[in-house]
Parts: sequence; C-alpha cells; structure tokens
Amino acid sequence: MTAVSNIYPTAALRAADAAHHIHPFTDTKALNAEGSRIITHADGVWLTDSDGNRILDGMAGLWCVQIGHGRQEVADAVHRQMSELSYYNTFFKTTHPPAVALSEKLAELAPAHINRVFYCSSGSEANDTVFRMARFYWDQMGKPEKKAIIGRWNGYHGSTLAGTSLGGMKAMHGQGDLPVPGVHHIDQPYWFGEGGDMSPEDFGIQVARKLAEKIDEIGEDKIAAFIAEPIQGAGGVIIPPETYWPEIKKILAERDILLVVDEVICGFGRLGTWFGSDYYGLEPDLMPIAKGLTSGYLPMGGVLVSDRVAEGLIDKGGEFYHGYTYSGHPACAAAALANLEIMQREKLVDYVADDIGPYLQKRWTALGDHPLVGEARMKGLMGALELVPEKGNRSKKFANEGTVGTLCRDISFNNGMVMRAVRDSMIISPPLVLSHDEADQLVAIARKTLDDTYVELKRQGKV
Ligand SMILES: *Cc1c(COP(=O)(O)O)cnc(C)c1O
Repeated sequence: MTAVSNIYPTAALRAADAAHHIHPFTDTKALNAEGSRIITHADGVWLTDSDGNRILDGMAGLWCVQIGHGRQEVADAVHRQMSELSYYNTFFKTTHPPAVALSEKLAELAPAHINRVFYCSSGSEANDTVFRMARFYWDQMGKPEKKAIIGRWNGYHGSTLAGTSLGGMKAMHGQGDLPVPGVHHIDQPYWFGEGGDMSPEDFGIQVARKLAEKIDEIGEDKIAAFIAEPIQGAGGVIIPPETYWPEIKKILAERDILLVVDEVICGFGRLGTWFGSDYYGLEPDLMPIAKGLTSGYLPMGGVLVSDRVAEGLIDKGGEFYHGYTYSGHPACAAAALANLEIMQREKLVDYVADDIGPYLQKRWTALGDHPLVGEARMKGLMGALELVPEKGNRSKKFANEGTVGTLCRDISFNNGMVMRAVRDSMIISPPLVLSHDEADQLVAIARKTLDDTYVELKRQGKV
C-alpha cells in the first residue's frame, strides 16, 4: 500500500479541503489552520493515511464498523444490487426484494415482541421518526394529550432538530434555541462524574427515581415516551450502575409511557448481544437503529417497532404522514444484509460476549493503575478512561475541561491509534473483529499514550 499512498498530494488535498469543506462538529477555523488528516484506505481494524501511516481504528469509524473495514463481500453485494435495481422508493404500494429480506431478518434478530421496521438513512432520522411516531401512536390510541418526551442530560440522539432536542447536550441546545417545546431532561447515571459520596448502587437507584419525579411533575397523562441509550456513547461511555435499569423498568411498568431504547451504538453486537436491550433485559416499544446495521458501508437507519406500537400505528388504520425518499434504499438494504450475514456466519456477537470482549476488558481496565487514570471501564467492546489531575479524588477535574482530552487524543493519533476524547475522558469502541494480537497492540498504544500525555502534563505543571 505504501507505493499507492505515495501518490497522494497531502498538502494540496489539505488546502482544497480547508477551502471548500465544512466538517461536522468542528471548529473549522482551527482545523483549517492545522489541516485535516487524510484517510485513504482501510482494511480490518487498520486505517492508512495519505502519508502512508497505519493507524489502529479504536473507534470503528464512528462506533459503526462492526465487521471491520474493506470487506469485499459487502462491496460485491452492493454492486450486484445496483446493477439490478439501484433505486426505487417504497412509498406508493411498492417494495423490493432487499427491503423485504432485511425487514424479515431484523424481525428475526430483534427481541420477540418486535416484528416491524420503518427505514430511514441515519440515527438522527431514526429519532426524528421516533419523535413523530410516538406522538402519532398516542393520537391513534385516543390520547392526543400525551405529547411530552423525556430524555436525559448528556444523552445523544443525533444532530437534527428532534435528535438534538431529545439529546441532552447543552452546548448543542445552546445553538438554535433547543430543545423544541415538549421535551424534558432528567439526570444521567454517571456515577464517576456525578455520584458524589454515594455508592454506585445507591446512586443508580437515586438517579433512576428522577424519572418517576419528572413524570409526577409533568403528569403521566401528558407524557408520550422516555428515551435513553442502554449505555451512553457520545456522552462518554457512561455505563449505568447495575441498579439503574432494573429501577427504570420498575418505574415504567407502573406507568403507561412508551420506552424508546436508542440502539444506534449498542445494537448489532457492541455489548455481546444483538441489542443493548437484550443485555439489560429491556422490552422497548421503539428501538432506533443505524451505525452497525450496515457497519457504515452505506448510510442506513431505522426504527424497530413493537407489536404494542403496531396496534396504534397500523391496526387502527389511517396514514402516518411520514417517510423519506431513501426509506429502505435497495443498495443500503443489500449492504445491511451482507453485513448481518457476515456477523452471523462469523458469530461476532458471541465472539464479543465470550472471547474478545472479556479479553480486552481485562487489559483495558488494568490501565486504571496509571497515575493519570481515575477510572477505566468497559462493557462489551466500548470503553472509557477518565483522566484526572489527582488520582483517587473524583471531584477534582482539570481546568479548561476538554483540553487534556484533546491533547491525549492527538498524542494517540500520532502514536498510531484513534481514541476519541469526550471532555477529559478517552473513548474506544473498536471493530468487533478485533483479534487478540490487535487488542494487545491497542492497549500498548493506549498505555504509551497515557505515559506521553502524563509527561507533557508534568511539563505544563498540570499534574
Ligand atoms: C450516532 C448516534 C445517533 C445519530 O446517528 P447519525 O447517523 O449520526 O444521525 C443517534 N443516537 C445515538 C445513540 C448515536 O450514537
């Protein structure tokens, strides 16, 4: 590959990118001053940049490349589908074989009470669909006053109007006067950051009770749904205390409110189960999906719909005025089918549960002994390292939140691995096909990165 990568004119590409391309979630002025890294190839868990550097993709792209990069089988399936039927819609009493086959496959993989899917092109669109579908459901059930939706602070549900509103990212809300009316937020189960002197177990119960309090405050008869990720991803791999989900389940069992479990990250094997709901024993009414559905090979999302919601959405009759030009896109559906076929054939979900998951967890959590790390946590193949200025003191944080995380992320990239920084914690979510040897390399680079970051912080007098 080096011979090929030599032909990339890095400086020229960087200049053109800076002149014409506005990147997502980016301070464009700062980026343009520095210049983008240009990724030209990827294979398995390895990325190659335009200078020929090989970089371990510790984030599976953006939490999505379950089967690893560059699987020819997916490219072939898409090519075949495009040669046969590259596009047709599913609006006007039409369907096509890939949409039919994928819907059947998803019904088979989803929990038993879920048998239907509505398609879109991303996780954000899935949550826009959730927003409208939950309200439409209650209209259909003769309870049109049930409109409010409760989300969580520091939850992430995408970047469109509904996605941003349902999510609890205050910086995002601040740009554009969001959330939209009718969306409310409760505290997150983030023990390390917000648990104070409580035990994780007590904190899990206390923070779950906030849902009951919020429901009482608004009135159960005015609430359509509660939405949450099984484990918050973009919020910083917030793994809830073991007491949290059982308490939420108890609260919702006594109340007539839809449970929406956002499976965009936890779905498709990330936790060693097909869905995060399987891991935590949840029975969601709606499950938004995207990312791992196609391993990111093509953009596709959807909302998995329970039999209960189908009663309002379908059995009552009447048109739901909602859909996308690309709902069920044949080439994307073909990519999803090929991706799921690989996941099943290679038993990747079991591999995460019984093999690479425990293998990496053990080595990753051992990084907790590093002087810079306040907590090292991991479930399935998603993990975090909390960087702290004073080990053993959870309440002490670095000044200018985020600068140490960004420093560590840049060092990691230069050391040959993508880790993501969320505030001052480091995040990984590698492809599910990670081998033992690659897991060892991942942990070795992470440790070297922590060492290098520590030396730099010492030099700056921050630790
Ligand atoms: C990424 C993500 C989304 C948004 O998906 P996009 O495809 O980026 O629109 C929604 N929910 C969760 C939990 C996510 O991680």
